[in-house]
Amino acid sequence: METPESTARPIRTAVLLAIGSELTVGETRDTNSGDLARSLSEAGVDVAWISALPDRLGTVTAALRDALAAADVVVTTGGLGPTPDDLTREAIADLCGEVPAVDPELERWLRHLFERRGLAFARTNLKQAWLIPSASAIPNERGTAPGWWVDRPEGRVIVALPGPPSEMRPMWQGWVMPRLRERGLGQDRVTRTYRLAGIGESAVAALLGERLLRTENPVVATYARSDAVDVRISAVAGAGRSAAALVDEAAAAVLAAIGEHVWGLDDDTWPAAIGRELLAHGWDAALVEVGTGGATARLLGEATWLRTARVIAAGSSGADAAISEVATQARGDSGASIGLAVRAIETAEDTRVELAAAGPWGVSETSQTAFLGGSEGRRRAGLAAAAFLYGILHEAAGG
Ligand code: AMP
Ligand code: MG
Repeated sequence: METPESTARPIRTAVLLAIGSELTVGETRDTNSGDLARSLSEAGVDVAWISALPDRLGTVTAALRDALAAADVVVTTGGLGPTPDDLTREAIADLCGEVPAVDPELERWLRHLFERRGLAFARTNLKQAWLIPSASAIPNERGTAPGWWVDRPEGRVIVALPGPPSEMRPMWQGWVMPRLRERGLGQDRVTRTYRLAGIGESAVAALLGERLLRTENPVVATYARSDAVDVRISAVAGAGRSAAALVDEAAAAVLAAIGEHVWGLDDDTWPAAIGRELLAHGWDAALVEVGTGGATARLLGEATWLRTARVIAAGSSGADAAISEVATQARGDSGASIGLAVRAIETAEDTRVELAAAGPWGVSETSQTAFLGGSEGRRRAGLAAAAFLYGILHEAAGG
């Protein structure tokens, strides 16, 4: 027999299976796979694919077989409850050609849990104390369903976790990840994200060009998020070069193409990015917005540098004043270093956005059209205001 050491296999690829008919009928959203995918990707593991499956034995067994042929680790969530429709254990046992049996130690633990709560122990619960010979139990401190860690030939691993995120997450972080790390997890991967404003995703793609966007390592990709267009560069070490060196090289090309639109890095937010610029001057700000329904305040809400935020409905008294006056008055009334004023005016299909900022330098003013009307147009007016203020501050800082 081979020793575990000789069969240990570094974990470089994963497949994630979310099991439960509540997912495939659309009643529950699969958040588990996203959480796991993020955790694995950050560790440099390539997630080959993610599937959601109904509580159907044949479907789950077939999906496990396909997944195991492609990945070093297959992680399932869901289907570990006590009821007959929870059949992840049966599917794994089928695949392994093994027969589940009640594990005495797990049974004692499970019965004790029921006693502790003064509940009768129904026999159906015993299923949660099952193991197969190639499985070890993954302790669950927040529920009655332990997970399974199953060692497969060639060092591949199946990890089965319960569906409730509050049980799944601590088991993954506290028990599974440390053991996967022992196997050698992922590759040296470096990722950097540039956050852009004032440019659409297709324009970004056109500026970056096909060659950059089609390279396999480093990967350069664009994502339209609600608060920015992101350009994400990600590389693994290869051809004698470190991941960091590959990312740096691609970053230089990316910045040459779209650098003027960058306002943040990685998981930066607007309140954080503007806050940095304000801090450089020792400034704070006051906001007045008209006709936006408070979209700017919602975007900047967590900002500690926002002294006051006022929302005025379009059509109320004072709502028609020139936008530069609104900014100047906001500054005067609040005593903040900067007064920022935004007005959203719905036009036929889009939203006209008037912007002004009054500060120690005087008053800056501009207007632009935000795509779409209604609440989407107002949301974009808030973004325009954030980008406007950031632009002024960044230029003032000479950046
Ligand atoms: P289980 O008994 O292990 O099948 O999971 C039970 C509960 O966990 C479900 O009723 C859902 O509320 C939740 N759940 C299962 N799968 C997921 C998933 N992929 N993402 C988020 N919640 C889930
Ligand atoms: Mg279920």
